[in-house]
Amino acid sequence: MTEIVILRNKRKKYQFLTFVGLPLVAVAGWFYPVLGFLLFGCMMGAVGIAFFRGRAWCDWMCPRGAFYDLFFSKISPKKKIPAFLRKKWLRAFMVGLIFAVLGSQLYLAWGNIDKMGLAMVRLLTITTVVGILLALTYHPSTWCHICPMGTVANWVSKNKQPLLVDQSCTGCTACAKACPMQLKPYECSPEGIMLSNDCIKCSTCVVTCPQNALSFKCKKAPTALAS
Ligand code: SF4
Ligand code: SF4
Repeated sequence: MTEIVILRNKRKKYQFLTFVGLPLVAVAGWFYPVLGFLLFGCMMGAVGIAFFRGRAWCDWMCPRGAFYDLFFSKISPKKKIPAFLRKKWLRAFMVGLIFAVLGSQLYLAWGNIDKMGLAMVRLLTITTVVGILLALTYHPSTWCHICPMGTVANWVSKNKQPLLVDQSCTGCTACAKACPMQLKPYECSPEGIMLSNDCIKCSTCVVTCPQNALSFKCKKAPTALAS
């Protein structure tokens, strides 16, 4: 089995474990609204980990990201994600919008645990449906570019376990074609640090590069899934 197949299988195995968190809240939460509070755990996990390992949470620990990757990879047209969905202003707007909606809903329901939980279940359900439509229109990871928690994680991710590109890179772009986030790993600073903060540390590019030009600082690729 090649390294890329081993990595893919490991990612899928972990994603199957975490994706269940999504129906647990977005489906069961309609009957047991208190489950909506689990959303806070996901939000804190995504941002907390970003302080140390960038957007590593988004690789397989995010139930929604795992859901899109597992179930839409085969049926999504996998088109290029529109550039405007990566714009800073749109991402900042999404952060403001989601927090304003959630904040106002929680304020109105304050003191009523069921209503507060339901506010979070409702928000998760609506945004998940938006992500499904984006996956069916463009690419499975489209939502991950405008996800508010992904954006906040992006803001604190600079140089947190960065992807390193060494001088053996020939610019063949094989890494970019393999990247599930449609990033360009070979675009790096003069010090050889990949420029994008949206890297989810999945290591797909590391095992794909024919020159072995890519690595993470800890030199344990595939980092995120080492058992
Ligand atoms: S696959 Fe490797 S050699 Fe090709 S562009 Fe990416 S980093 Fe460079
Ligand atoms: S740049 Fe590499 S490690 Fe980062 S998301 Fe893309 S494939 Fe995964």
